[in-house]
Amino acid sequence: MFDKILIANRGEIALRILRAAKELGIATVAVHSTADADAMHVRLADESVCIGPPPARDSYLNIPSIIAACEITGADAVHPGYGFLSENARFAEVLNHHGIGFIGPKAEHIRVMGDKIEAKRTAKRLGIPCVPGSEGGVTDADEAKRIAAEIGYPVLIKAASGGGGRGMKVARSEADLESALMTARTEAKAAFGDDAVYIEKYLEKPRHIEVQVLGDGRGNAIHLAERDCSLQRRHQKVWEEGPSPALNAEMREQIGGTVAQAMQELGYLGAGTIEFLYEDGQFYFIEMNTRIQVEHPVTEMITGIDLVNEQIRVAAGAPLSVRQEDVRVEGHAIECRINAEHPATFRPSPGTITYFHPPGGLGVRVDSAAFQGYRIPPHYDSLMGKLIVHGRTRNECLMRLRRALDEFVVAGVDTTLPLFRTLVRNADIQNGLYDIHWLEEFLKTGGLEIG
Ligand code: ADP
Repeated sequence: MFDKILIANRGEIALRILRAAKELGIATVAVHSTADADAMHVRLADESVCIGPPPARDSYLNIPSIIAACEITGADAVHPGYGFLSENARFAEVLNHHGIGFIGPKAEHIRVMGDKIEAKRTAKRLGIPCVPGSEGGVTDADEAKRIAAEIGYPVLIKAASGGGGRGMKVARSEADLESALMTARTEAKAAFGDDAVYIEKYLEKPRHIEVQVLGDGRGNAIHLAERDCSLQRRHQKVWEEGPSPALNAEMREQIGGTVAQAMQELGYLGAGTIEFLYEDGQFYFIEMNTRIQVEHPVTEMITGIDLVNEQIRVAAGAPLSVRQEDVRVEGHAIECRINAEHPATFRPSPGTITYFHPPGGLGVRVDSAAFQGYRIPPHYDSLMGKLIVHGRTRNECLMRLRRALDEFVVAGVDTTLPLFRTLVRNADIQNGLYDIHWLEEFLKTGGLEIG
């Protein structure tokens, strides 16, 4: 096992990793930018190193500084969390060259899944169902027209290097296609430095359902059921729950089994998520995330398995602590991503938290690095904390979430708490009747009337 882990991240996920390391008896090193000198992850770690000024590219994304911090502190492994360097294959390789462990998948798997065209090709080869579309990249309009005619309109043009929902354009007819192709390529070039795009059938009313996997890198891999992340705004997940209100046990076993088998064949190491769109009883692979995800607590609450603990164990060469037949899905869990943003305009609201009272009680978990007096810096994403609630049934979970949201008090900055208080009382949400467009429509039609 590792003796000392350096956490190359900040905020709630840095705390989450710290907690797992402490429970394994592993010493922790926090790294931080000058803007985060007083942050909770710095306070709770055994040691800390300042790695640069506030902009992420000069600190949390600065590979030489992070390697230097490992060498100064004698850390023998790095956990990258999510975002920042978590899906950077070169970072994993550089660490290995320095004899430092990377708590994540093999670099080759990060690389394959980071290129969406390669990822889709690999998924298909492994027997994972994919969205109908082009076999590889598409550059000229004639080829695009031929493929679109074959799969049928509407189609979606997506950037090979895309992420965060950027670089996607819908074409509803052949008349739209040429300009959509050009716009998508220009946007992709600007955002990712790569103008490679591909074409997919555009699904009109899908749900976003993703399967959590864990692998030991030696051919043993299991699935830990699914999360439904259909409630999104601008392709960003807002509310995640598991199990999905749209699946039954048989469907869960089927898709989970397919995915676990694919990961065994790949020899996947660590935690990963296979994301699907789900429509009319069919699953369509969209991408794989080769890291821990923001919404991982949903899975932890329904399975009782500590995903970060498993990540650390397998990275150190230990076997998984659970077998597939021991995984039980119990009850229901919902996570709300509470951002420091105005609940109606979503304008980021950095500043000092003057009062902070998180909810508690049975089945309530708050993953947050915030506290009273904490100054949310303007340099990073606006996630202020995650409220995760578990109940024996979905109904119990919804009632518990309602009372937990009502207990949660944050003053000094705007938060999206009022949005969740409205959502939890909405009939469609209560009935589980929503797809990936539901939230945008709800917001557009004035579902939330907050000054
Ligand atoms: P990113 O890496 O940018 O997040 P994804 O491929 O995961 O890209 O897609 C992000 C979101 O875009 C999905 O959650 C879904 O809302 C939408 N999307 C992606 N592919 C399709 C498709 N073929 N049809 C309809 N919506 C899609």
